Amino acid sequence: MSTPDLAEPIRTHLMFLLVAGATCYFGGNGFGADVMRPLGLRDVRVGGEIGRRIEVTITNNLLVLDADRDFLPPFKAKSADTGYIGLGKLIDATVKFAAYSGDPRVDALRRHLVAETIQAQEADGYIGLLAAPHRVRGMWDVHEMGYLIFALLTDYQYFGEERSLTAARRAADYLVQRWPTLPADWCVGTDVAPHVAVTGLERTMLALNRQTGDGAYLDFTLKTRQLPEWALPIVVGRRQGIEGHVYAYTARCLAQLELHRMQPNPRLLRQTERALDFMLQHDGLHITGGTGQCEIWTDDQDGRGDLGETCATAYQLRVYDSLLRLNGDARMGDLIERTLFNALFAAQSPDGRRLRYFGPTEGPRAYWPTDTYCCPCNYRRIVAELPAMVFYRTAAGLAVNLYTPAEAKLAVGKDVALRVRQETDYPNTGRVRLWLDPARPVKFPLQLRIPLWARGATVTVNGKAAAGTVRVGAFFVVTREWKSGDEVTLDLPMAWRLVKGRQRQAGRVALMRGPQVFCLNPAQNPVLAKLDGTELGYLAIDPASLGTPVPSDVVRPGGLACKVSFWKPGFGLGNKADYELTLTEFPDPDGKATYFRLRDFSVAAEDELLAGRDR
Ligand SMILES: [Zn+2]
Repeated sequence: MSTPDLAEPIRTHLMFLLVAGATCYFGGNGFGADVMRPLGLRDVRVGGEIGRRIEVTITNNLLVLDADRDFLPPFKAKSADTGYIGLGKLIDATVKFAAYSGDPRVDALRRHLVAETIQAQEADGYIGLLAAPHRVRGMWDVHEMGYLIFALLTDYQYFGEERSLTAARRAADYLVQRWPTLPADWCVGTDVAPHVAVTGLERTMLALNRQTGDGAYLDFTLKTRQLPEWALPIVVGRRQGIEGHVYAYTARCLAQLELHRMQPNPRLLRQTERALDFMLQHDGLHITGGTGQCEIWTDDQDGRGDLGETCATAYQLRVYDSLLRLNGDARMGDLIERTLFNALFAAQSPDGRRLRYFGPTEGPRAYWPTDTYCCPCNYRRIVAELPAMVFYRTAAGLAVNLYTPAEAKLAVGKDVALRVRQETDYPNTGRVRLWLDPARPVKFPLQLRIPLWARGATVTVNGKAAAGTVRVGAFFVVTREWKSGDEVTLDLPMAWRLVKGRQRQAGRVALMRGPQVFCLNPAQNPVLAKLDGTELGYLAIDPASLGTPVPSDVVRPGGLACKVSFWKPGFGLGNKADYELTLTEFPDPDGKATYFRLRDFSVAAEDELLAGRDR
């Protein structure tokens, strides 16, 4: 039996976070402030669409881009006065893909990029692309350096490369030592506010402090950068300084959350609370999981053009993952999968080669013309991190967050080796089967995320119904002595949902099933050739026509589409619908409409992610 749990506001989640995060830190469970821990990238294998995206990002994107032509030369020349490439982000992604895949081609690229970067480092520690007079203060130099330091540290952490750690420290020391030479009004009143210009830097310095124990990096973060004091309201609109920059904002939230793990303080959760509140309570989040327009916070739900910067999408995912680890709130997992299957995967061509800066829900979508710059590089990084968002270790057991074919190894109970295998065709159906293979019988809690949309979900263990009530929006816990060969089956009902639009989309609905949003691609529907793009959103959908999804390879092999009847733009007057159209999965590169009219709005549902909205 499933019990809808739609009334509890997200604020309750945050109150829990404020209290429990700090309390658990002192609980001595070996997890610091966290109730969940990710598995290592080498301990997980992922299949399904998530695994396919990892594979095509490696094979058709990372391994075919030309780093020697497009990424490395500016770092050797060091002659620019401004600019951005994204070399650090590329290295960070390559290191993680190399660790996950074990692919010698990826490892060769990793070694090449790291060696060339270290070779380009100046005697004083500088790594970057600017000429001497412009270093540090020139636009994006600190941003580029911060990610290069982070990437070299990642290389040390995954591959034990001492020279990478040394190079990272030298570059970080260079920045810390020269920071006092920056004018007090650096970036103030320019097109880019100071906190945006240094995006990512605080997290880098915290990581370096944790790795080395050197207090200088922590001091820099706490005192020089004043990370704990950061308390910028949500700024809506593209104002001077692009203060309301979603990527910069969420990256800082993430740094504060990581500092909270080191030095628990409720104040460090408030900016994240602000961001979540704006996204979930005040129309900041689009139905795809994307946020903002033209890189900044917006709340008008305009679906056209520059919607949802890919960098922001990547950092939203990290913030959700960070909160899931801190408090085990299953709704963060719902946000992760909504964002993955829609906003994130729509930022990439189905074959993996091309990447996007933005992902609109209305009108044409554009690919970014180069392999460099922020969004392509942040896309690769977050895809490389996805394997760590499938399973999590808990204090004594295992939590399953994402449903996708996967295998993992970890220790449960008092250090008993466990192998777990997940088989599913999710999101085509909601049937998930897990096989557990502990080295010896061992009692531990197995947690399964029950999405908010999955009313009526059931869980069986070795064919028998599991004891307890299956609640949506929570983890269902089965605690028992597990033996090798035990099988758990989860069934998540996949009903169609007509989800109400808000603000500019008010009065219309989007079609969802499980975590997926569906969209209308006119090229798949020749009957629409006479309509212009602006009319697509005025088609009226016939809910009675929704049936079983049909196969479609437009987005992924073995993917889905749905046949739906529509009335022509307006409300249509006939009893019989005018068109039978095919809607495809949202990452369809030629999708051009997502919201449609509905004759009888009483069948529309609220977006379950916004449950408990207080207005
Ligand atoms: Zn970007």
